[in-house]
Amino acid sequence: MTVNAGIIGATGAVGQRLIQFLDPHPDFEITALTASDASAGDTYREAAKWRISMPIPEDIAEMTVTETDPDAMPDDVDIVFSSLPSSVGEAVEPDFCEAGYVVSSNSSNGRTDPDVPLTIPEVNADHIGLLEVQRDERGWDGALVKNPNCSTITMVPPLAALDEAFGLEAVTVSTLQAVSGAGYSGVTSMEIIDNAIPHIGGEEKKMETESRKLLGAFDGAEVSWHDARVYASCNRIPTLDGHLENVWTDTEADATVADAKEACRAYSGADLPSSPDRLIHVFEEPDRPQPRLDRDRDNGMAIAVGGLQETEGGLQFNCLAHNTMRGAAGASVLNGELLLTEGYL
Ligand code: NAP
Repeated sequence: MTVNAGIIGATGAVGQRLIQFLDPHPDFEITALTASDASAGDTYREAAKWRISMPIPEDIAEMTVTETDPDAMPDDVDIVFSSLPSSVGEAVEPDFCEAGYVVSSNSSNGRTDPDVPLTIPEVNADHIGLLEVQRDERGWDGALVKNPNCSTITMVPPLAALDEAFGLEAVTVSTLQAVSGAGYSGVTSMEIIDNAIPHIGGEEKKMETESRKLLGAFDGAEVSWHDARVYASCNRIPTLDGHLENVWTDTEADATVADAKEACRAYSGADLPSSPDRLIHVFEEPDRPQPRLDRDRDNGMAIAVGGLQETEGGLQFNCLAHNTMRGAAGASVLNGELLLTEGYL
């Protein structure tokens, strides 16, 4: 039996990827689509400027987009995937949770709240237990679960593998982020063609805080954040999809390249439909991963690692993930699969 799913913010860059992910999906069936008031009442074909190379699924194209309001959501929707701008998510996601909907959200609001699970199922599935705390504290019948920012999600699985193997003391990361990460109205062509922009507002703070929460330990009541020091510098470049990141780590134990490769390759996926069999793909070639060549591996859900080198006190490497698949839509679908497996739907 499938679970009925609504997508709120369905017409944007992440919303379109959610449709690509969920139509079809073994567990979820899309039964409701919402966007801004300007789109409400239109068919999805009319409302969305479709920018994915596969065609809009025919059944989705003819669905009517409604306003983003729990009162307009059909009662039989069991899970809501949210891809709203964060300011809108902050205003409306709690209303959906209060109305009894389980919300799996991409928006940045609430990600570091103590009672909100911020999860990558392959890394910290146990943090989903925070929902018990959330329900006690907020009195919601519904629930709110977040996936991290797309740049955070790219580096955290290899960091988790290296933390298990050697212990992490410090992380420094510099990113080369694709334009789709800013959403459809994010960066104009005049700004980004023939250019690189060495500032992405708020992104550095997100990488520095979210990664420590994700790598933290949950004791059944709260998450103790990892005490590694994390420093990020975030840059926008004119690629379409796929965030490439250069990472330097200080490790507690001495780390070798051979052991680091083994730790990354052995780091397991989750037993969920959208999790790849091998989560982290390690390249031997020094000039990989590259966005155009490597972002689509395993339906855009794999993390690619390359350029592993020993440094004084730690390791250096590059990593890459598809920002709107693994970094956004696929991440919230994976969290939906985890919620289903754990009995929250
Ligand atoms: P986007 O392309 O700008 O799409 C935003 C969506 O929200 C559209 O469906 C839009 O509908 C709807 N919306 C805008 N204002 C609204 C309002 N006042 N009420 C209801 N709906 C409204 O943004 P995006 O890139 O898909 O990002 C969505 C969220 O995911 C953001 O919070 C972003 O930070 C996060 N995220 C994005 C990425 C990425 O790689 N792009 C990765 C991780 C997380 P209309 O079409 O009607 O305007």
